[in-house]
Amino acid sequence: MQKANERKIAIIGGGPGGLTLAVILQKYGVKATVYEKSSFQANNQQGGSLDIHSESGQRALQEADLFESFQAVARYDGEDFRLFDKKGKMYLEEIAEDHGSDRPEIDRGVLCEMILQALHPTSIRWNHSLSHVVPLKDDLYELHFENGNVETANLVIGADGAFSKVRPLLTKAKAEYTGLSMVEVHIKNVAIDHPELASFNRRGKMFALADHKAIIGQLNGDGDIRVYASFQVEQEWLDQSGFLWDQPDIAKQKLLSYFEDWDESLQNYIRLAEGKILPRRIYMLPVGLTWAHRAGVTLIGDAAHLMSPFAGEGVNLAMLDATELALSIVQHNDLSIAVQGYEQKMYAYSGEAARESYKNLQLCFGDQAASRLAALMNQYHQQA
Ligand SMILES: Cc1cc2nc3c(=O)[nH]c(=O)nc-3n(C[C@H](O)[C@H](O)[C@H](O)COP(=O)(O)OP(=O)(O)OC[C@H]3O[C@@H](n4cnc5c(N)ncnc54)[C@H](O)[C@@H]3O)c2cc1C
Repeated sequence: MQKANERKIAIIGGGPGGLTLAVILQKYGVKATVYEKSSFQANNQQGGSLDIHSESGQRALQEADLFESFQAVARYDGEDFRLFDKKGKMYLEEIAEDHGSDRPEIDRGVLCEMILQALHPTSIRWNHSLSHVVPLKDDLYELHFENGNVETANLVIGADGAFSKVRPLLTKAKAEYTGLSMVEVHIKNVAIDHPELASFNRRGKMFALADHKAIIGQLNGDGDIRVYASFQVEQEWLDQSGFLWDQPDIAKQKLLSYFEDWDESLQNYIRLAEGKILPRRIYMLPVGLTWAHRAGVTLIGDAAHLMSPFAGEGVNLAMLDATELALSIVQHNDLSIAVQGYEQKMYAYSGEAARESYKNLQLCFGDQAASRLAALMNQYHQQA
């Protein structure tokens, strides 16, 4: 067997999962290289606000010795939640206590930047988009990148998200459309420019649900509200509905027309938006996906268990996977045993979260969505 530090570990993807894994391995003196398709700047700008849970995301930050840095930037008062129907009737209001939340918020870009700062700069290769992997022998793989580079690795870890190029080595399963499409718009500098909307939204998330549609508003750390106008529609709808994505003002008017019988306070989430307008389809992997163990390859995060955002677990699971896999590699000299130990644990917790996410997605876009979600959340709080 090769000595621990002669083995090459390749992590494909430098999102929250891949970066966390690399930093925890680095802490224990295990060498690994992250290959990330985007440039540093692009990675840093992606994504909205994420709540980081104590048992998963926060545990990972503790293992990575980043918890204090996280506490310095996390928004402990960003957890307010308000739930409405389309007429503006409120079904639920949760006001987070200052510093009382165990699920503080952080923007994805800030989180990735913080983890990246802890990683030795030579451990990450930017502009390395994996095109395919060629198995050479049981635990040796050749990695081919779009830029022409070819590397080898004894362990290839796919942390490359929804459309993973590593996943086909392990399973035929593909990310499937969930039936949900979103149009994302942004309202800038809300507290100063739109104080009425700021007080309506409060310091966290606003969900308005009705007619198999939703308006979801999420306050971010930069003072903007990120809005997801969401529709239960066919996969082709975003392309075929006639939106002019390169003409945001016209596209915004069209978007508003889908909500013309919704309360003014909710329409404002679209009316006050400025700048780009982004179509998104939401995908998922089969709930409870597993695969036959293969020496030298595994998956973490969305690559392993992509689910809709309606359990609020995606980033937390990616960071928990990173922790479990890193600690298993540190504990076991044999990489194959390490990976199998991680995979068995991961299947159990990710399957549960995927089932919850799927159930919540059905509920949020089904009949009487607002009252049914309120009932579910009240039940959850009573049990907690
Ligand atoms: C609209 C929306 C809202 C969400 N809200 C929440 C939320 O509130 N809470 C929550 O917990 N989660 C949320 N999520 C999910 C969360 O963003 C993901 O679960 C999380 O980012 C997964 O982390 P990851 O590291 O596994 O993958 P990703 O964040 O997808 O990172 C993958 C990385 O791999 C890189 N990559 C991709 N392909 C290649 C390649 N071929 N070669 C090299 N690099 C590659 C990408 O550039 C990227 O940096 C949301 C998702 C969406 C779409």
